[in-house]
Amino acid sequence: MPELPEVEIVKRGLERRIVGLEIESVEIRLAKIFQGDHEKILNSKITQIQRHAKMLEIDFANSQSLLIHLKMTGQLIFDQKDTDKRSRVAGGHPSKDWVADLPNQFTHVVFHFKGGGVLYFNDIRRFGYIKVFDQKDLAKTKEISSLGPSPFAESFDEKYLLGATARRPKLKIKQLLMDQSIIAGIGNIYADESLFCAGISPLRMSSQITKEEFSKLIKCIRGVLELALEHGGSSENTFVNTEGERGGMQNFFKVYRQTGQDCPNGCGKIKRIVVGGRGTHYCPACQK
Ligand SMILES: [Zn+2]
Repeated sequence: MPELPEVEIVKRGLERRIVGLEIESVEIRLAKIFQGDHEKILNSKITQIQRHAKMLEIDFANSQSLLIHLKMTGQLIFDQKDTDKRSRVAGGHPSKDWVADLPNQFTHVVFHFKGGGVLYFNDIRRFGYIKVFDQKDLAKTKEISSLGPSPFAESFDEKYLLGATARRPKLKIKQLLMDQSIIAGIGNIYADESLFCAGISPLRMSSQITKEEFSKLIKCIRGVLELALEHGGSSENTFVNTEGERGGMQNFFKVYRQTGQDCPNGCGKIKRIVVGGRGTHYCPACQK
């Protein structure tokens, strides 16, 4: 699933591509993906794009918003039509990154902009969704009001995590990191990578983590997320940015999906276990 860095990459792409534009028509090819009245967002200028954890919000001048969740395999790809394809050829991107065959069988919603641009919402697994909201109601929705702080927020510190573990003492640290009501935006990949960086076993009870360990973990979370942003996100799965290009962070994973490989610290092999129902990768030798 796209996590904070991947959704942030899509947000930045949308900012470059669609802020200031107006939607002329919406083509809904799979009804369950699009919830609400699409007429409400037509012919109104897009003013800004926001990210809430792993969700995107597109705001319109008429006080309407779209809330988009990419879930497991959602993609948002912008195409300026003819001019883009020519510039892609000129830019020499490898063909696997091209968006030549859109729309395809996995394209469920198509936004047509005034001036010719098109935004495709693709989703192989079909768990993603797009919802129309009045901007004033958005903060009250369960999806947004239940979110904990961003890992980059000032309020996200050791004291906050100690308080959170006191409220949820039965959670293992990996589960704590992935609980969106405690920290917003971390999923399976960046939980595993952050815990490796901090030298903490994913199996530890969060109530047993010390203040010093939390301090290191916070630095690791931010460092891992920043590295992922630098590399354009992780594309070990279906993630692409708004230009249809893959990210490169999967080439820098130290433990995630590295089962059987040598630990980068040279102490043993990376092991795969299941924590809270999720595949979890760690080094039993250096993560305590
Ligand atoms: Zn190790």
